[in-house]
Amino acid sequence: MIEVVRAGACVACDICIKVCPTDVFERGADGVPVIARQPDCQTCFMCEANCPTDALYVAPLSGPAPAGSPQADQAALEEAGAFGAYRELIGWGGGRTPGSRLDRNHVFTAMLERGGP
Ligand code: SF4
Ligand code: SF4
Repeated sequence: MIEVVRAGACVACDICIKVCPTDVFERGADGVPVIARQPDCQTCFMCEANCPTDALYVAPLSGPAPAGSPQADQAALEEAGAFGAYRELIGWGGGRTPGSRLDRNHVFTAMLERGGP
C-alpha cells in the first residue's frame, strides 16, 4: 500500500493523483498529495512508477504497514535507498533502459528484432 509522500521532493505535478485507479489521493493546499483513502489502495505501484521526482513509496504489502514498520518510515526508506528504486528497476526515467527492452520473452524479442509488432 501507499505509505509515504516525501513532501520535500514533491513538485506538485498532480500525476499521482491522476494515475491512481482508486482515487487514493487528495491534493493538499500546498499541492502536495495527501493519502486520503489508504484502504482503497490496490498496491499497483502506478503512482510510484509515474512520480517524476521519486517522492512516493508504495510498500509491497497488501495491507497497511504495522506500527513502527520501516516500510512506513521515511528516514529508514531514504537510508535504504528505497525511493525511486522501483522506478529504476522498471527502467522509467531519464537515462534508463525500459524494462520491456530487457525482456527475454521470445515473442517480444522477435518483435523488437523486426522493429515492432
Ligand atoms: S499504489 Fe496504485 S492504488 Fe495505491 S495509491 Fe498508488 S496508484 Fe493508487
Ligand atoms: S507525482 Fe510525485 S511530484 Fe507529482 S504530485 Fe505526486 S508525489 Fe508530487
